[in-house]
Amino acid sequence: MTSHTLPVDRFDLAIFGGTGDLALRKLLPGLFRRFLDGQIVPGSRILGIARDALDDDAYRARVGEALERSGCGAGPRTAEFLQLIGFRTLDATADQGWDAFAGELKAREPRPVRVFYLAVGPALFVDICEKLRTHGLNGDDARIVIEKPIGKDSASAARINDAIGAGFDERHIFRIDHYLGKETVQNLLALRFANALFEPLWNAAHIDHVQITVAETLGMEQRASYYDTAGALRDMVQNHLLQLLCMVAMEPPATLNADAVRDEKLKVLRALRPIDAGNAAALTVRGQYRAGAAAGKAVPGYAEELGRSDSRTETFVALKAEIGNWRWGGVPFYLRTGKRLAERVSEIVVSFRQVPHSIFDAASGPVTRNKLVLRLQPDEGVKLFLMIKEPGPGGLRLKRVPLDMTFAETFGVHQPEAYERLLMDVVRGNPTLFMRRDEVEAAWQWIDPILAAWNADREPPKSYTAGSWGPGAAVALIERDGRTWHEESD
Ligand code: NAP
Repeated sequence: MTSHTLPVDRFDLAIFGGTGDLALRKLLPGLFRRFLDGQIVPGSRILGIARDALDDDAYRARVGEALERSGCGAGPRTAEFLQLIGFRTLDATADQGWDAFAGELKAREPRPVRVFYLAVGPALFVDICEKLRTHGLNGDDARIVIEKPIGKDSASAARINDAIGAGFDERHIFRIDHYLGKETVQNLLALRFANALFEPLWNAAHIDHVQITVAETLGMEQRASYYDTAGALRDMVQNHLLQLLCMVAMEPPATLNADAVRDEKLKVLRALRPIDAGNAAALTVRGQYRAGAAAGKAVPGYAEELGRSDSRTETFVALKAEIGNWRWGGVPFYLRTGKRLAERVSEIVVSFRQVPHSIFDAASGPVTRNKLVLRLQPDEGVKLFLMIKEPGPGGLRLKRVPLDMTFAETFGVHQPEAYERLLMDVVRGNPTLFMRRDEVEAAWQWIDPILAAWNADREPPKSYTAGSWGPGAAVALIERDGRTWHEESD
């Protein structure tokens, strides 16, 4: 069976930061795969933009290399795809070249959808939006895509949103969180709302707790100067982990309409119980890695990577969140994320309550909780852990087994990269899987008091060995409640 893809309207996509890591490693390979699938109609164009003085051919060569590096290979259709691509030298902060760029886009007949993807540092968002506005490129068919980080607290996020909002209507602003483009996250919507089975159980009466883990094995790589001003709470929790929490916890929206979904996510963010100076010590753990081993190789600690030993930036966070509403009252959501951890894994674990009474004796083995495990990476998929009788003679022995609900192989399709799906949604003008301004700001409003509590605290982050699962205090955070972090072998 093949995947079903519907072509999108003809478009001009201008990627500001076209020579950067995000564009070359994620966006262009994603667009190439959509092209191979026939989703990009002839006459569409992709323009890389940066200050570098490249011409079209030099940029195409760079994109071609990037496609090879990303495993897309140099197939027979690569040259055809590269013909859609061009390059324009522009400095976001200077005036030179903008009139010609705007003139070129406006001359296109019939007029295609215009997408401006800001794959540049956030310091340039305001300049670029201002230039697009003053050159009349912010019309009704324009869409602007911005990446995290959107600010470093609620005040700075509001300033960025105001500046973008001055030129573009909210309907045309796509704040991307690529976690929402992952197949498993969309599968969560399907599981919850296209089955009668789960939703009646999806509440405090039947769910014991939820865990969300986004663990990386990498350190800061080339991002030290940004990362040290951000830390794991701002870099990962404020956006990715809270967005995942919203997808798990939101009420059923009336439709899949963008605002219906985002209204429900916003209610979840607003219902999060505050964590502040009064309870941050009990509900949060922050850590920073020291030298250790990752994938069998010795790796330096954060301070050595940074070249300074006085940084209090956290590279690990674990926290216990609660949602103060009727559906979730008393159900902890344990979140953890960090760099240089033991494994690269992102997953959501929904742990159901124990059966109220066991009829089985000790010889049958323990009756353990059902769990729904949604794995975002690697090996995207969904498993429902159930108790069964171990097959065969020898009495009734219980066993917990995973019911694998990963159907990509059955359907014979490859798992698309999150950016593939999201880029096509931008062209379609469908913002369901993008963050609305009020969501971003509500997430910051929950994060701000945690940051303030940490700043006021004299304690540095707890040290953990690179290649471990974080500081021991993160284990204690969940074990204090009589629970443990999920392991596949549980
Ligand atoms: P990067 O590799 O440093 O690339 C930055 C790009 O911006 C380059 O193409 C650079 O080219 C261009 N640029 C810089 N100053 C410019 C100016 N004044 N005018 C026009 N172009 C300019 O950064 P990146 O890793 O791709 O990240 C870009 C953004 O995406 C950042 O906000 C980052 O936080 C976010 N992000 C990245 C990833 C990722 O996987 N890389 C993931 C999530 C979010 P020139 O210097 O030649 O102008």
